[in-house]
Amino acid sequence: MTDNVTGAVACRAVTKTFEQTTPELVAVDGVDLDIAAGEFVVILGPSGCGKSTLLSMIAGLEPMTSGSIEADGEPVTGPGPDRCMVFQQSSLYPWMSVADNVGFGLKLRGVPKNERRETARDLLHTMGLGGFADHHPDGLSGGMRQRAAIARALAMRPRVLLMDEPFAALDVQTRAKMQNYVAQLRDESGASVIFVTHSIDEAVALADRIVVFTARPGRIKATVNVDLERPRDPRSPGYHALHDQLVDLLADEVDRAFAEQERIRA
Ligand code: ADP
Ligand code: MG
Repeated sequence: MTDNVTGAVACRAVTKTFEQTTPELVAVDGVDLDIAAGEFVVILGPSGCGKSTLLSMIAGLEPMTSGSIEADGEPVTGPGPDRCMVFQQSSLYPWMSVADNVGFGLKLRGVPKNERRETARDLLHTMGLGGFADHHPDGLSGGMRQRAAIARALAMRPRVLLMDEPFAALDVQTRAKMQNYVAQLRDESGASVIFVTHSIDEAVALADRIVVFTARPGRIKATVNVDLERPRDPRSPGYHALHDQLVDLLADEVDRAFAEQERIRA
């Protein structure tokens, strides 16, 4: 990694068409989006609007049909250690201990065992999993597994953390705790975070800026800066006003997404 790696991301007219479907399907249409170094951007939109597709393209896991994406001024042509993804369902290797899972990317990078072990232990401690380094993933709850998956992404010291509904499968209390972890983690690491969700509350809890997507094909409908003090207080008037604004912005899109799903099913 070079010194000029800061975590800034620039998307220009990013479009993704799945051509093998009949009729072909435009998932993401002409997205222009800049993420500043260290910024926490939440992409909010109804299900099926292209959020995961956009994130995969930024991660370099999915090619674009047209447009361009740059990370720190370099075109994204594939995955890179500067950008790490955390998925909705954690993808830990069941046969490895939690610590080995966290250190796995470092192993591929050739980091010596002792150093990997130390990094994994530090990160697991930070994520509240200090006592679980030698456990296997199936001995952990869903929330713990998801924290281990985040620790694994952080072990790579990415400048951009891409999170695709990472807490969607968790119960409400665990989810709130995890949101605090992630906010704290951005403050400590200075990494940029691009976080996808369909939950308005999650968006308001986390974002510096919320990018609202339309129903498919995914376009940017509105961008809203969140100027509320952290930690966000769901009882404050500012929180309520923003929440209402987002409900209004999303209402039509959710209806459109729902109608489309009904059409597909019919
Ligand atoms: P979201 O994450 O917002 O729920 P996705 O990005 O997963 O939405 O999907 C956007 C649209 O693209 C959906 O209609 C989905 O069915 C379609 N899609 C996603 N991946 C593929 C694929 N590999 N082939 C064909 N269509 C796809
Ligand atoms: Mg998705």
